[in-house]
Amino acid sequence: MNNKAQGIRHKAQSEKIIIAVLSSILCILLLSGCTKEDKVFKKTRTEMFTTVTITVVSDSDKKAEEAIDAGFAEIRRIGELINYFSPDSELTAVNRSAGKGPVKVSRETLDTIMKAIHTADVTGGAFNPTIGPVIKLWGFSKKESERFVPSRDSVSAALRFVDYKKVKINEAASEVYLEDAGMELDLGGIAKGYGADKAIEVIRAKGIKAALVAIAGDIRGYGMRPDGQPWRVGVQNPRSKADKKSPDDDILTALYLTDQAISTSGDYERFFTEDGKRYHHIIDPKTGFPSESQAISVSVIAPEGYISDGISTGVFVLGSQKGIALLESMGLEGIIVDADMKAYITKGLKGIVEMPGMQ
Ligand code: AMP
Ligand code: MG
Repeated sequence: MNNKAQGIRHKAQSEKIIIAVLSSILCILLLSGCTKEDKVFKKTRTEMFTTVTITVVSDSDKKAEEAIDAGFAEIRRIGELINYFSPDSELTAVNRSAGKGPVKVSRETLDTIMKAIHTADVTGGAFNPTIGPVIKLWGFSKKESERFVPSRDSVSAALRFVDYKKVKINEAASEVYLEDAGMELDLGGIAKGYGADKAIEVIRAKGIKAALVAIAGDIRGYGMRPDGQPWRVGVQNPRSKADKKSPDDDILTALYLTDQAISTSGDYERFFTEDGKRYHHIIDPKTGFPSESQAISVSVIAPEGYISDGISTGVFVLGSQKGIALLESMGLEGIIVDADMKAYITKGLKGIVEMPGMQ
């Protein structure tokens, strides 16, 4: 055989090898990414005093169920550690020892408190986790008939205990100390987002490729749906239509999440009315009264749930102008709806989000 013929044979052989290698890579890819078999599994339960829905994508019923159960168990565990209302929670132990001495807490409790203090710093105190004594006074957890507007004097008295700079952390010893007797931490503005983060952590550790954890309005997701699309999350209309025909009638706009979190803070979540005025559960730490920033709903998209949760509560207090400026300075996205149903959005959502009342 001459050199030319040999060369052609070699070329043909190496082409065969390349084709064989490429087709085996394709086979492996098809097998490993076997999206055809993937299904969506979803369960809803009550945890942290609210509705929690966990959705996972898996090709195995058993794996999906185990991961969902692990997610719920983690949310319960975190909820028990930082529950303001439980006499047995670590948070209550810290509050009870205010002015007396430091309390040793778990890594998770310490972590949530440190994240809450950081959020207070970045929002200039609009988010304030030492708001506890004021929240207690307003009694938002009580029955509607037992709620009333507290006197200005009692609000001023409670406000004296609100100072997040007096929360002393000893990270090495995992200890927390509230300097003044009467101070109380309330992590209600950040706990659900943090819980969603922790649930995602355990679900991911179970080898699940995509999941969405929704603790009421605090939602964290990762990965894609089996159809290759991101997770769709509706932003609720803060003034629900009385004549709604389907749940979609209550959606202002839809947002699409992959490896992100979204939280919504709204004045419709917990409130009571007295003399025709709405008193809601997001308190301006400067006044001790429900925030009058004119925001009625704030949705924030962030890389993690504790950020979207804490920041949405803080931005609610700041209002549309300062709120959008803060979000943009932090590189976050968000939507703020005000009392006139005008919607303000961050620059990054322009052209992506369409909704009524957009400014
Ligand atoms: P969210 O629904 O996440 O906006 O949180 C609201 C909850 O956070 C309230 O029920 C209170 O427990 C707590 N809270 C209210 N006002 C504030 C505030 N200004 N800063 C931090 N937490 C707050
Ligand atoms: Mg919040």
